[in-house]
Formats: sequence, C-alpha cells, structure tokens
Amino acid sequence: MLVARILYPIEVLGPGKRIGIWMCGCKHRCKGCSNPELWEFDDKYRISVNEVFQILYGLSRKHQVDGFTITGGDPFEQAEELSELVEKLKLISSDILVYTGYTLKELEEKNNQSVNNVIQNIAVLIDGRYIEERNTNAILRGSDNQQILILNDAYKDKYQEYLSTAANLIQNFNTSDGIVSVGIHKPGFMDELNNKVRKIGLHREEEGWKA
Ligand code: SF4
Repeated sequence: MLVARILYPIEVLGPGKRIGIWMCGCKHRCKGCSNPELWEFDDKYRISVNEVFQILYGLSRKHQVDGFTITGGDPFEQAEELSELVEKLKLISSDILVYTGYTLKELEEKNNQSVNNVIQNIAVLIDGRYIEERNTNAILRGSDNQQILILNDAYKDKYQEYLSTAANLIQNFNTSDGIVSVGIHKPGFMDELNNKVRKIGLHREEEGWKA
C-alpha cells in the first residue's frame, strides 16, 4: 500500500490521542485541498500492510492509542489494502475514522467487496469532496457538504460528545519531510502559512517546508 505519513499523537482529528495515517493517491483534485502533495500514487511510499501494522502495533505498545484517523489522499483509492489494514487495526482499537472524497452513496454504488468491508468495520466515515466555498470551519469537516457518519453505534455517544465540545485546532509536526500541519484549515491557510514560514527562513518544497 502507499502510505506517506504516520503521525502520533493526533489530537485534532477525532477524540483522544490517535494515530494518523495518510494514504497517498487521490483522483478528486478538489480546489483548495490542503494535501495536494498526496494526490499522486507515488511508489516511493510503498509499504506492505503488515509492515504498517507492525509500526502501529509498536506505537500502541508504548503509547496510549485511543483510535485511528485515516486520511490522505483518498484512502478508498486503495480499498483492498485499506480493508486489510482496518481489520488488523481492530486488534488495537475499533475507533477508526476514515476520510474520503467519495460520498457514502458513491462508495456503496461501487459494489466492491473491499469497500463494503471497510464500511462495515470502521466507526466513522467523513465523506464527500472538499468544496472550498463551503469551508465554514465546521468541526472535523473541511466543508459543510461533508457528512460525519457514525457507522458503529457503539461510538455514537463518544462522538456526539466530542462533536458538541471540541473546537477545530491545528497541530504542526516537524517531520523528515518538513513541517506537516494537521487539522481542519481555513481557506487561504496555505498562503498564510507560506508567508509565516518564509519569515522564519523556511521554504516550501513538494513534500513540505524545508530550512
Ligand atoms: S478528496 Fe481530500 S485529498 Fe482528495 S483532493 Fe479532495 S480534499 Fe484533497
């Protein structure tokens, strides 16, 4: 599978301290997307599902892991691998939140076993393209056309409480690919951030900001 980043602890994309997984490859090309560097299906990010799981399992042995947030890119472009991964992740936590640019209806219409398996095994799906003009800083949603679908009833209370109390915050991680900014960003954030980082002597390359 193609996985560009694994970051921990993610505290701005779902309840608790989560492991964030960024899969790469996306065909939607939404205007204003905050991760355009993950649109390509870049083979340099290839790693087996088992290797990814070993990394995540290792993290979960050392740190509190309250759940997973899988984003990208569009994770459903790699439905078969995603399906395998999700089944394994449930050994650590079933609180699995997945972002996709497809709507749930579009996913169901694919009539694909791996896609259906993911839908059956995750706790939450946040669906739909990002529409910049509809970015209202809604919690967990890049734009307000997207739906937060709690697919596993066992997580209804946890997410309803989170959604009624949490605020949209941004976390910045210093990674080997440069600074990665995580969270629901306001429109124009990229220009704003580029200006700020330029002032402190960094510049943006394909993968992120570099000194
Ligand atoms: S679906 Fe998500 S990753 Fe893909 S282009 Fe749209 S906002 Fe970007």
